[in-house]
Amino acid sequence: MTGPAISAIAAAIEQWYPVELAAEWDQIGLTVGNPSQPINTVLLSVDITEKVLKQAQELGAGLIISHHPVFLPEVSDVVVLQNISRIIHAAAENQIGLYVAHTNTDAAIAGVSDAIMSALGAETESSISDPTQKTGIGRIGSLQNVMQLDDFAKLVAQALPENHFGVTVAGDLAKPITRIAVCGGAGASLLPEVAMLDVDVYVTADLKHHAALDHLANSEIALVNVSHWASEWLWLATIAKKLNQEFTQVKTIVSEICTDPWVAHYESGSRP
Ligand SMILES: [Zn+2]
Repeated sequence: MTGPAISAIAAAIEQWYPVELAAEWDQIGLTVGNPSQPINTVLLSVDITEKVLKQAQELGAGLIISHHPVFLPEVSDVVVLQNISRIIHAAAENQIGLYVAHTNTDAAIAGVSDAIMSALGAETESSISDPTQKTGIGRIGSLQNVMQLDDFAKLVAQALPENHFGVTVAGDLAKPITRIAVCGGAGASLLPEVAMLDVDVYVTADLKHHAALDHLANSEIALVNVSHWASEWLWLATIAKKLNQEFTQVKTIVSEICTDPWVAHYESGSRP
């Protein structure tokens, strides 16, 4: 049996995650591939790396749906461009389509931050970028039970897939946590909005030294900093489920290849 065309899969995704919700600078949609190519197997991944591409080949997947674009406009480094062109060539040569669903899936309902919320057992109330709406970047919600920051950080660690970055936490570990803000991926740019919210903690990835220190100097809201890959990987199950329901003849596989660059984590300063 022949599966649906890439264009039919793209149309369904764009109905769930409207392209108008994507940031202007983003590069979403079909990057490589023939829209009329029929698809039987889809591989879902946060990033398209050579390992992920190889996995698609081994699985006979005709399409990779990734969260991150293969390239972004700010990329100009020659080494990065060489990697990108290798991936695009290899995908085209092996007739593997590359489809990107990025900031539209951050902003839409059932998006990346909603997946984190539900993995934490929390109910989404609104978005961070627009607290009057459920769409927008980041999410605000409440835990079912109050817990100390220490236990909340452990809950976050347990909810995320295995990775070497781990979870780092800033704030009073005994602080009671009920209302939470989360943003999958690099959410430092939302810190000024988060500081104005009635929440106890902010969970995001890629928080840097100065951004975190400046935030803590002016706000009681604790910070939980996680792996970028892990924070977005949870959402792949959401889109896999939607695809399974819409296209029963298509096999959807969530890649478990961790595309975080980090391969080990050591506590520093400890002496044997
Ligand atoms: Zn990201």
